[in-house]
Amino acid sequence: MQKIPVGVLGATGMVGQQYIALLKDHPWFEVKFVAASPRSAGKKYSEAVAGRWQLARDYSPTVGQLIVADANDVNAAKSAFAKGECAFVFSALEMAKDEIKHLEEAYAGAGIAVVSNASAHRWTIDVPMLIPEINHHHADIIPSQRKNRGWDKGFIAVKPNCSLQSYMTPVWALQKAGYEVRRLFVTTLQAVSGAGYPGVPSLDMIDNIVPYIGGEEEKSEQEPLKILGTIDGGNIKNAMGPLVSAHCNRVPVVDGHTACVSLEFGDRKPGIEEVKAIWTAFRSLPQELGLPFAPVQPIIVREEADRPQPRKDRDADKGMAVSVGRIRPCKLFDLRFVGLSHNTVRGAAGGGILNAELLKAKGYL
Ligand code: NAP
Repeated sequence: MQKIPVGVLGATGMVGQQYIALLKDHPWFEVKFVAASPRSAGKKYSEAVAGRWQLARDYSPTVGQLIVADANDVNAAKSAFAKGECAFVFSALEMAKDEIKHLEEAYAGAGIAVVSNASAHRWTIDVPMLIPEINHHHADIIPSQRKNRGWDKGFIAVKPNCSLQSYMTPVWALQKAGYEVRRLFVTTLQAVSGAGYPGVPSLDMIDNIVPYIGGEEEKSEQEPLKILGTIDGGNIKNAMGPLVSAHCNRVPVVDGHTACVSLEFGDRKPGIEEVKAIWTAFRSLPQELGLPFAPVQPIIVREEADRPQPRKDRDADKGMAVSVGRIRPCKLFDLRFVGLSHNTVRGAAGGGILNAELLKAKGYL
């Protein structure tokens, strides 16, 4: 199969670098277009990331030679599109929310689909916010989105906040098995790479924990309702619950967001062994379709008393699986567990790639 040429907006940043590294040997997609801020524009990619490449895995020599475009210049992407060098873009931009919103719309309006990591369009009611194992059917709002905006080939699809990935799939697996989740109490321990590069100053992070991440608790409390929502009249209607209360903390870990979660169920409550069995057996459309970035087992149950841990579990199944452990009764609610996922892979670039694979498999790309 001939690979589909793709672009990465924000290719020089923390998430953009993950895209470049993860797409290096991708069986369907090949990076042929890179864009970033005017500071990087005009340089070779290798020059633009010199001294700030953050990953152990290197970029390909071909990508190193690409000239970085200015992501604000949609015409550059249009001309790459016309030359067959960019069929769609992954967006990993960090700019003012309104600027990203307008820019992503400009790309979509120019016929270039946008698979985004940014939060700008997460609350746009005809934009799907996808975790493919949970709400793959939300992709089917794309025809309405195109119609609403008069777009022909372009569209915008987004992924949710990175820390949610550490517990929303396990929560959904229990809901899918017939257990209503009424309330969810979560404390997150979030890695520094979640703040981009250079991110949080080292003097704030070494020997320290910062009990505040701007906007993160609101995202954690509200985004699950859209993910669990339904398509209604061409828009996504939020679910009524669960009610979520979140404490979000920045901790001195490089990669891997951990979440300590307590759940309250409705009248039916699963036993601990049943929860483990549901999680271990859980599979969804990405696994059925055999999408290249889908983890074989989306939820990995760890039986050790002291797992999951970021350093030991974040790379599970290409960094795409959620690891859960410490599954036990809760004295305030019904069930407690610890969930963990790789924030710049499952929670960002890997999640974006899986979204694109799903959208391709569904015929939208
Ligand atoms: P980052 O490391 O700060 O990278 C930001 C990227 O945006 C760089 O490529 C930068 O280009 C580019 N950029 C900055 N200002 C620009 C401008 N005025 N015009 C055009 N491009 C501009 O940020 P990140 O952590 O990779 O995050 C990228 C996006 O993903 C954000 O929206 C973030 O909220 C989201 N996200 C991040 C994570 C995570 O774990 N880090 C997880 C989920 C979602 P230069 O290098 O040229 O400055």
